[in-house]
Amino acid sequence: MKQSPLTTEICEIAHYLYSKGLAPGKSGNISAKFHDIVAITPSGVSLGHVSEDEIVMVNMDGKILTGKNPSSELMLHLEVYKNKDVNGIVHTHSSYATGFAMSGKKIERLEGFGERNNPFLKMVDYAQPGTVKLAQLVGEGLKKEDVVILENHGVVATGENLSEAALLAEFVEETAKTQFVARVLSNMEF
Ligand SMILES: [Zn+2]
Repeated sequence: MKQSPLTTEICEIAHYLYSKGLAPGKSGNISAKFHDIVAITPSGVSLGHVSEDEIVMVNMDGKILTGKNPSSELMLHLEVYKNKDVNGIVHTHSSYATGFAMSGKKIERLEGFGERNNPFLKMVDYAQPGTVKLAQLVGEGLKKEDVVILENHGVVATGENLSEAALLAEFVEETAKTQFVARVLSNMEF
């Protein structure tokens, strides 16, 4: 497959997310949209090692144009693009944010997190990974939000471009980490 700006960008951002510890092992998937083409990371490949010829290109109906084995969350990515005018999506299971998602504890919303009338980041109800149900819940949840937490699962961040989505995912993780430390320390006696 010929390299394109989309595949180059995806690989750079995938490697960045992995290097920051946001997508350990083979977890996480990311995509970028250009007109009606979506480029997405493959299934079963670490974001830390993915190469340009492994990136899968699909149309908005999910038909594979080049490559094979798109991420098992392809439906989720397509549903978000259909519901929202964004060009980049990052899905991670980053430790702190996912810890909040697993325990049902909410992450406080900080500056730059979309809708302001809710003091906490939106948490989307649990649905099994890779299902249409999860895709629909996330698509709906992101209509008014830039980022959502998936109950018992992880994070989905969006952006005008993939780089913005990655920075948001990173910021959410750091926010969760800071809040975790603050909450633990505030319960300790010194
Ligand atoms: Zn996931």
